[in-house]
Amino acid sequence: MSSELLNDELRNLYQQVIVDHSKRPRNFRKMEGSTHKMEGYNPLCGDKLFLYLRIKDDRVADASFEGQGCAISTASASMMTESVIGKTISECKSLFRYFHQLLTEGKADESGLGKLIIFAGVHDFPARVKCASLSWHTLHAALDSKVQKDGPVKTE
Ligand code: ZN
Repeated sequence: MSSELLNDELRNLYQQVIVDHSKRPRNFRKMEGSTHKMEGYNPLCGDKLFLYLRIKDDRVADASFEGQGCAISTASASMMTESVIGKTISECKSLFRYFHQLLTEGKADESGLGKLIIFAGVHDFPARVKCASLSWHTLHAALDSKVQKDGPVKTE
């Protein structure tokens, strides 16, 4: 199934986009006046991120992150923040579900994913799935305003 998607073109695109976003992450900054903050940690790889959201009228008005991680986790966080800005909370949660399906099954309903579809390639590298999903799990926890009693959110 994933082999259908993973033609050479998609693989090349995947590499280009990951390299670009990991070298020049978008929305990589601390945010003043955030309404939601959440820390995420992937112990398998050592990826750490701190996510900031400003929610206004049930919509993500702004999203940013700080932290240190591998190229895939940084690129994923960069693209996640780009993808969720302007979306409602329920749209963000749908996107989370599609993205999670994409990583775990190597395919998903592409309609809402846009360029996030390139992460289908991560499905072939199970060890990296947690790198790619870290920022999304952190987003989900932040949106649910889960109280962080046991330290940072960890990827499942
Ligand atoms: Zn990683």
